[in-house]
Amino acid sequence: MSLETSFQRRSLPLEHPFTIARGTVTETDVVTVRVEDDDGRVGIGAAGPASHYGETADTVEAVLPDLLEVVEDVGDPARLSRIERQMRETVRYNPAARAAVSIAVHDLETKRLGVPLYRYWGLDPAESLETSYTIGIDDAETMCEKAETAIDRGYGTLKVKLGTDRDEEIVRTIRSVAPDASLYVDANEAWTPREAVETIDRLAAFDLAFVEQPVPADDPEGLRFVYERSPVPIAADESCLTLSDVPAVADRCDVANLKLMKCGGLREVRRMIHAARAHGLEVMLGCMTESNASIAAACHLAPLLDYADLDGSLLLADDPYDGVPMPDGRIDLESLDRPGTGATAD
Ligand SMILES: [Mg+2]
Repeated sequence: MSLETSFQRRSLPLEHPFTIARGTVTETDVVTVRVEDDDGRVGIGAAGPASHYGETADTVEAVLPDLLEVVEDVGDPARLSRIERQMRETVRYNPAARAAVSIAVHDLETKRLGVPLYRYWGLDPAESLETSYTIGIDDAETMCEKAETAIDRGYGTLKVKLGTDRDEEIVRTIRSVAPDASLYVDANEAWTPREAVETIDRLAAFDLAFVEQPVPADDPEGLRFVYERSPVPIAADESCLTLSDVPAVADRCDVANLKLMKCGGLREVRRMIHAARAHGLEVMLGCMTESNASIAAACHLAPLLDYADLDGSLLLADDPYDGVPMPDGRIDLESLDRPGTGATAD
């Protein structure tokens, strides 16, 4: 068998400018990978690089030729473990670039087998769950309008970005228009440990499911300080990138927020899910602003999760790819009518 590979970069505008504590983006650069077998079957994956972790579309494009050479040399999409291991040996960092290739090869292999990805893993599609819909930082009125629109569209779970000087006002206003929604907040490292404890004490009245990444990742003792004092469960995102981070955060958070673009592949993220469970953590799968060329693959892990934050495609003005159907935000694996990840150019 021989495999042909290629990649293409594109810039995708977001529906609205998206602001978190670190800054604002209006578009996202993704690099889509194609792996094609002799029979003309094509696997698709994509990198949604995050500059916070040192990756850009430029760095993805710089390392993809070496990663795709691994795929062509192995020459068999069934040898997923070998491909992922050799990619890691070839390029130690650059997890979004490796994730793109991992997704494309998984997509191709499951298309060859004629099964959707979740079935390849033996997962029950009925055990799926709904994605949260993320509200970026803006003035409280605009955030409120976005929350109302999301509720009208059927979303029952909202994730609200914080890290401003008016966090309490934001949460109070959004809770007033979404009284029944499940509500998460994400400070993206914006608070000091003491600020975090004081803020979370005030926010606890608004019935939050959890507070994500209250303090900087380079302050692990600060995370523990907050965790030991917080009346609301704590999730770790920027503090939990790869497998070895799972035991390191296990005694200082309740929820691990895992992402393909942080850990570098579908096999690695599954190892992280099981490691997190073994350490008594709840598991959330999140994403960057990504198209369905990568989000679709993440959706197949939904049966293994406690929380899904897989709204990357929903935040785009126009995703060039269809993926797993999400009626009312529910990740509907049962209605997926095609093999592979379901990512398909619409
Ligand atoms: Mg986060």
